[in-house]
Parts: sequence; structure tokens; C-alpha cells
Amino acid sequence: MGDLTGFLKYDRALPPRRPVPVRLRDWKEVYEPFPPEAVRQQAARCMDCGIPFCHEGCPLGNLIPEWNDLVYRDDFTEASERLHATNNFPEFTGRLCPAPCEGSCVLGINAAPVTIERVEVEIAERAWSEGWVEPHPAAKATGKRVAIVGSGPAGLAAAQQLARAGHAVVVYERAERAGGLLRYGIPEFKMEKAVLDRRLRQLRDEGVVFRCGVSVGRPDPETAGACAPDVEVMAGGDLVGEHDAVVLAGGSTVPRDLAVPGRHLRGIHPAMEFLKPSNLVQEGTLTESPVSARGKHVVIIGGGDTGADCLGTAHRQGALSVHQLEILPEPPAERNPDNPWPTWPVILRTSSAHEEGGERLFAVATAELLDDGTGGVRGLRAHEVEMALDDAGRPAFVPVPGSTFELTCELVLLAMGFAGPERGGVVADLGLALDDRGNVSADTGWATNVPGVFVCGDMTRGQSLIVWAIAEGRSAAASVDRWLMGRTALPVPITPGQLALR
Ligand SMILES: Cc1cc2nc3c(=O)[nH]c(=O)nc-3n(C[C@H](O)[C@H](O)[C@H](O)COP(=O)(O)OP(=O)(O)OC[C@H]3O[C@@H](n4cnc5c(N)ncnc54)[C@H](O)[C@@H]3O)c2cc1C
Ligand code: SF4
Repeated sequence: MGDLTGFLKYDRALPPRRPVPVRLRDWKEVYEPFPPEAVRQQAARCMDCGIPFCHEGCPLGNLIPEWNDLVYRDDFTEASERLHATNNFPEFTGRLCPAPCEGSCVLGINAAPVTIERVEVEIAERAWSEGWVEPHPAAKATGKRVAIVGSGPAGLAAAQQLARAGHAVVVYERAERAGGLLRYGIPEFKMEKAVLDRRLRQLRDEGVVFRCGVSVGRPDPETAGACAPDVEVMAGGDLVGEHDAVVLAGGSTVPRDLAVPGRHLRGIHPAMEFLKPSNLVQEGTLTESPVSARGKHVVIIGGGDTGADCLGTAHRQGALSVHQLEILPEPPAERNPDNPWPTWPVILRTSSAHEEGGERLFAVATAELLDDGTGGVRGLRAHEVEMALDDAGRPAFVPVPGSTFELTCELVLLAMGFAGPERGGVVADLGLALDDRGNVSADTGWATNVPGVFVCGDMTRGQSLIVWAIAEGRSAAASVDRWLMGRTALPVPITPGQLALR
């Protein structure tokens, strides 16, 4: 701990975000640069606690007090080493993680927590700009062949760990390009794709081979939007036959739907049917999105991260108005007594997209989507709801009498989360066992019921976060390595099904 009184001298601070009118005219990331002295002061707020609860809060077990101290001492080279020791992709988490570590920071008991996530991205970016992030190809090849299905953060982390352990790794990805939701879900204004591309170059230089536009198992037409248009199908059995081990990291792709009258109308889309083409336009693959918010009144159903990404995208595309509906009540500004430190604070969060406009409505449920007379949507009827217990004692949403209202909209985006992996495709091809939530079952060593086939990321955990996906990819890689070689030196940050601090 470099500065014993840093937490008394400096307030929590983040770099300023670019002015809203400026950033709405482009798709670039929203933050301005953070001066080095400001980063150092933020790192100096870390108290190097005897028991660093932030380690427990971070699924990767990032060595947060160590790199905070190194940043304070201006030793970014060593800070980068310590950061990469536990995290393959800190430039992703440093931009995109909701930072459960900060919810567990001891300083957060009576003050604003350390800006851990911001320090993380500053270390990562310094490492990239100084050329410290180099390929680490394995010294010796094992002669074992491993296939990874899916190139999101879980698949990429598993691929990098296994390639570094000396295995010949091929990543199969059914979309046009690698990256999973990092590329086609998350918009540029949260993470520019150049950040992803330079990391993919490192993986390629370490020997990882990417085969994009290849679906393992026939894709379900309901989610075919995730696939490249001319996708090649490879049978699951062939994949298993050609490799010594397979890691499934196909994500949680089935969108939750809304069973209300009018759902069939034109102009109503799951969020990914909106976000993916928008990202394809940004990367230059499409000239125009077939699902655009330009000149439309937009309603987003779902108040989470995906909804916020739709909001920022809709504003950049030129929406006339945007409403975001959330069925849960508005969270409090501060922790409630039943939500104490060091658990994840359930509080109102305002993302950069929320600063840019639109209206958030809490505790409302959609009752009906309204026809414009030509089969397109013209509006939405909704009502306020209250939480109550049903006859079986389960929480239920009860309509508030007399609270019905209508919103005009020509575009409705469904951002209510995901219900697990597709049950057809590779799951059916290989006869994979599912758990009671419909996710692919993993034993304590990330193995499925099919010998030599392992699973990680959202495909087994269910819809989650990038930090969990990386932690799962790293941990599954260790199991695969042990299965292939009889032993492993790869780290195991988490076990299957491990939960956040609660
Ligand atoms: C819009 C959106 C925004 C998000 N924002 C954030 C955020 O800001 N911060 C955060 O922490 N989390 C965020 N999340 C969640 C996060 O992106 C996911 O938890 C994470 O990407 C899961 O990683 P994964 O590798 O398991 O799967 P994914 O990233 O979903 O990748 C799975 C990949 O597998 C491919 N695939 C699937 N089946 C096959 C097959 N049969 N053959 C070949 N390829 C296949 C898919 O095309 C996909 O590319 C967001 C999610 C969404 C939808
Ligand atoms: S990965 Fe997320 S939880 Fe871990 S240190 Fe970084 S911001 Fe915190």
C-alpha cells in the first residue's frame, strides 16, 4: 500500500464522458482519456485490506490491491503482469464489467468504493500502447487437437489457455466473425471492435485457428440471425470424431419472448435482431440495417444491459423517442438494509445510454401490442404493476387498477433476457443432457454427459456476464488439459455453478 492516507485525500473519480450531443453523432466510446495522475490517485485510494473482499467479488479473483499499489508506484509493466495473471482480457472487463468487485470493496462500507474497473482498463490500455501485450505461443506442442464451439469471451478464454498449454486449438463460430456478443451484441460506443480485433490477432499469433461461418449442428431458424448468411453446417458427431476434446461455448441464445396479443405484428423484434445488424453496419458488412430506429418512436421492453444497448443504438440511429419499460419497481439510490455490503448492491444504475435521452418507466407490464391496420405495430398498451404473493406464496405482478396507458411506437424491441441455448443444433446432435433450467449440464469438472465434450460460459451458466464467461473458459480449459494430459498447471478460478457473493 503506497499511500496510507490516499482514501482520505482523494474522492472517487471517473474520466468525464464526451458531451451527449457530440457522442450521439458517432459510435465511438463515450469516455475521454483519464490523465495519468488521476489514475494514480484513484489507485492510491485502495487500502490494501487484510482481507481483500474485492478478490471474492471478482469471479476471476483479480489481484486488485496488488495492481492498485503498482499503479500508485507507476510500475505499469508489473501491474500488467499481475493483471494478466488472472484475466486473459482485462481490456474487455475494464470497459464492460459491472464491477461486482466494487460492490465488495471495503472502502464501500462508508465511502465510495475504489474505481477498480477504471484502473483495470487503464493498465490494460497502457500495456497495449507500450507493446507489452505479446503472443505467448506454447514452447512445446502436445499433438492433441481441441475444438472450441463459439468465440465469445468463454470460448476465447478457453482457446487461449489451451493453445498456451500446447494443444492445437480450432474455434468454430457460426457468425461472420469471431467475438460472440462482444462483437455482435455490445455496441461500438461501449467497446470499439478494434479492441477485440487486436486481442484476436494475439490468439492467432499463439496458434489458435478460427473457422467462422461454420455452425456445429444445424442452427435453429428462430436464432439463425446469429449465423453468417452462407453458414456451413458441421455435424456434432464429426466434430467430436476429429478432435481429442471439444469445448462448447455457444452462449445463451434463445431470447425470452412476450406472450401478449399483437406479438405477431411487423416492427416487433428480439433485441439481437436490432443490435447485430447495427454492429454489421458499423463493421462495414451491411450498408443499412433492416431493423432501424431512424424516424421512429421506439419502445424497449426490458430494463437491463441489453435494453440500455438498444437505447444508445436507437438514439444514434435517429429515433424520434425511446421509452424503456421495466416490470420491476425502481431500485433505491442506496443499498437497502437487506442488501448489505459486501453483496452486489441492487441500486438504480444509470448507464451512458440513459444519460443520452429516453424515458425509463418502472413497474409496468405490457398488455397488448396495437395494430396500425396494415399488420404493423402502431402502439403499445401497458399498465402499472405491484408485487404481491400468489396463492402458492410466489411473488407475482398484479395490475394496478385504472393505471392502463398507451404509448405510440413503430418499433418494439424485446430485451427481456435469454432462456438458454438452442435445444436443437449441437445439443440435439450430441444428445447433451440439460439441467432443469434448460442449460447444458456440467459435472464438477465442466464435462458434459458426452465423453471428451466440455461446456462453459452462458451455455451452461445461463445468461450472465463477461467476467463469469472468462472465468468459466479458464476453468474449463484446466479440466480439458487434465483430461488430455493426466495433469494440468492451468489455473481454476471457479467451479461450475459457483455463485456471486450473496
Ligand atoms: C446486448 C448484450 C449486452 C451485454 N452487455 C454486457 C456488458 O456490458 N457487460 C457484461 O459483463 N456482460 C454483458 N452481456 C452479457 C455477456 O455478453 C455474456 O454473458 C457473454 O458474452 C457470454 O459469453 P459466452 O462466450 O458464453 O457466449 P457468447 O458471447 O454468446 O458467444 C457464443 C458464441 O457461440 C456461437 N455459437 C453458438 N452456437 C454455435 C454453434 N452451434 N456453432 C458455432 N458457433 C456457435 C455464437 O454465434 C456466439 O458467437 C451482454 C449481453 C447482451 C446480449
Ligand atoms: S473483472 Fe470485473 S469484477 Fe473483476 S476486477 Fe475487473 S471490474 Fe472487478
